[in-house]
Amino acid sequence: MKAKIVILPGDGIGPEVIKVSQKILEQISHKFDHQFEIEEQLIGGIAIDKEQNPLPHETSKACLEADAVLLGAVGGPKWDDPTAKMRPEQGLLGLRKKLDLFANLRPINPHHDLISASPLKEEKLLGVDFIVVRELTGGIYFGQPSERRVVDGQIQSLDTMVYNESEIERVANLAFNLARERSGKLTSVDKANVLESSRLWREVVTRVAKEHSDIELEHLLVDAAAMHLLTRPATFDVIVTANLFGDILTDEASILTGSLGNLPSASIGNQLNSLGYPRGVYEPIHGSAPDIAGLGIANPIGTILSTAMMLRHSLGLETEAKAIEKVIDDVLTAGYRTADLVNDGETEISTEVLSGHILERLD
Ligand code: NAD
Repeated sequence: MKAKIVILPGDGIGPEVIKVSQKILEQISHKFDHQFEIEEQLIGGIAIDKEQNPLPHETSKACLEADAVLLGAVGGPKWDDPTAKMRPEQGLLGLRKKLDLFANLRPINPHHDLISASPLKEEKLLGVDFIVVRELTGGIYFGQPSERRVVDGQIQSLDTMVYNESEIERVANLAFNLARERSGKLTSVDKANVLESSRLWREVVTRVAKEHSDIELEHLLVDAAAMHLLTRPATFDVIVTANLFGDILTDEASILTGSLGNLPSASIGNQLNSLGYPRGVYEPIHGSAPDIAGLGIANPIGTILSTAMMLRHSLGLETEAKAIEKVIDDVLTAGYRTADLVNDGETEISTEVLSGHILERLD
């Protein structure tokens, strides 16, 4: 098969983890006889430096024409000036909006041999296997006004958490359908006791639930959900929540797997690519990790598992996706770990050495 893939390494450890996935894609294309046309483009801080735009026109155009997009991470202290007109994150948010990627899927499924890498007790982690559906193109990350202004002689700043019915309906429907493919349970997370936008969220999700009466629906307030993720993580199956809550809860949930570096994600919407599959952006959930950038120690697993999700969801290549997931399972079982995953007495290996083991097994 032929597919056009755009790669956006971005900033910090982004290029380090993307490099491994690029080699994996090349190997998969040889092994399974596919033609992947891979094009690299700029996004984030590096795009500000080179093109004075966090999402250059060339990048948007290439992504709109691609069958799938694989992204590293954006951001870093170099572009953190609070008064700057352009921020790397605008590139990411702009891309999600442009491709109308309203749902971000984040599977959380700790590897059996990484249980000791998590600070949680083993008995809490047994049987944990859930997926968070984070609404991605609405809520407080996009609401207007979002500004600084002077009121009564002092600076005031505000952001707006705004949702309309159709935005909630479409992501809720997607989550209910996903729950049907799994064990039939959906948890909707909001802050309906305080926020008006969350009251609408709960009302719409409850209404949509009537069309999915075979699915068991639970509502949780986000503060309680943050606690339940640590006290009873194995009871969740599919969680659907607003943009901000999903962002925060999944960083917390990543620790169930031992490291933020392990978690992949798929951002999808209703647009189909030239192959008839959902067009998507696939990226690890972690950021650009400036504290370890350039040291060669980043964990590439989140990006590699994102690559597997890309092959499955946007290119329809289930066998190839499974082959990658099996290799990741095997290297972890064999005890190969980057610095973020080692316990006392265990040996850490570099990104490059880990990727060598992965590529060798994939062969
Ligand atoms: P971060 O996710 O970059 O890092 C948090 C911690 O996790 C750091 O200690 C880091 O070293 C570690 N970590 C993250 N990924 C890792 C990996 N693959 N292997 C090993 N360790 C890893 O979050 P942050 O430090 O709060 O943010 C840094 C920058 O990233 C900021 O500019 C932020 O805006 C940006 N950011 C970007 C995205 C994105 O591109 N999707 C997401 C979150 C944050």
